[in-house]
Amino acid sequence: MKRMAVLALLLMGALLMGVDRPSGLGDILDVRYWSYPDYTRIVVELDRPVSTEVIRLAADSAADRPERLYLDLNGVWVGRHYAEGIAVRDGLLQGIRLGQNTLRKTRVVLDLERYDRHRLLKLSHPHRIVIDVFGRRDGLTDRRTGQPLVDMLAPEFRPVRTVVVDAGHGGRDPGAIGVGGLREKDVTLRLAKALGRALEQQGFRVVYTRRDDRALSLEERTVLAESAGGDLFISVHANASRRRSVHGIETFYLDENYERHSLNLAARENGIPRNEVNVLQKTLAHLHMEEVSPHSRLLAEAVQNQMVKGLKGKKRPANLGVKKGPFYVLFLSNMPAVLVEVGFITNRSEAKWLQDNGYLTAMAKQIAAGVAHYRGERATRLARSKPPQ
Ligand SMILES: [Zn+2]
Repeated sequence: MKRMAVLALLLMGALLMGVDRPSGLGDILDVRYWSYPDYTRIVVELDRPVSTEVIRLAADSAADRPERLYLDLNGVWVGRHYAEGIAVRDGLLQGIRLGQNTLRKTRVVLDLERYDRHRLLKLSHPHRIVIDVFGRRDGLTDRRTGQPLVDMLAPEFRPVRTVVVDAGHGGRDPGAIGVGGLREKDVTLRLAKALGRALEQQGFRVVYTRRDDRALSLEERTVLAESAGGDLFISVHANASRRRSVHGIETFYLDENYERHSLNLAARENGIPRNEVNVLQKTLAHLHMEEVSPHSRLLAEAVQNQMVKGLKGKKRPANLGVKKGPFYVLFLSNMPAVLVEVGFITNRSEAKWLQDNGYLTAMAKQIAAGVAHYRGERATRLARSKPPQ
């Protein structure tokens, strides 16, 4: 009798412990979310790529279900890992539920409180799905921090106060490697610090994504930017080419209609293979790009023009112009954002310049002057128009 009971318990245990899990399925590695004034970002990290789409469901009062978004992850196992769900309660989302919908399919459900629109992005290295849910939640407070969630005005109606300075790469990601083993991550960090100082001299508040040699995911960079209340985002990078003669500076802003030669660079800066950049192009084509990119273009032009005009003397880089590029880090930030490639570390002259503190300081001053020029332009536009009531 006793032995039977033990046996039954063992059998039940074996069933629950994963004998029922079909082989060959992927795993959910992590689920994270962040609340911002006008949207909530959910990131589901997976151990493999999964194609999915977001489906919207109306509220079902009979079943006491609120309005929902859901997405199915085929070939993914979650089991009862998130059986209790994740409570969000930030005024937009009630919470996140994940469950095994069928033996070979996980369903992610977002229970909504308010909803305006959403966007979906699939990133790789590591594989993750990013869902941003937008909506207005005036007068609400963040229930975790108790801080009021002020409604975020459209960029053109906000004065520019805080600039986020993002030093590209870092930690285990050295970025490009140049002449004499010069690492992009070291150049970007030194320049970012000089840029921060130059921006402070122009009266800006400065927030850094990193101030030392550390690895940060692209979402972490934008999370830092958004949660610090950044008004502008400037990502600093150094370029590389197989052809050592290639040199010059170029500034990118995000646009779906990017030029073809931006693809290789975007692949490297996004940390993905070249052929995966096309996936981003398809995603971007479905998004409301018009909200931020005109401002990003103005900012890119102001910064590039100032760098080209202001850097004088012998160390004068060639002007490769303002360009469109599909960069994740620009897409993920919800504010006007540019990516500056400050020179080629694979070119002997520019590699030498970029190791010179005097040159980095001079370049930082010109970038800061470009940002100040953009601030002036936006203030003029602001004076001419009235913010919506
Ligand atoms: Zn880079």
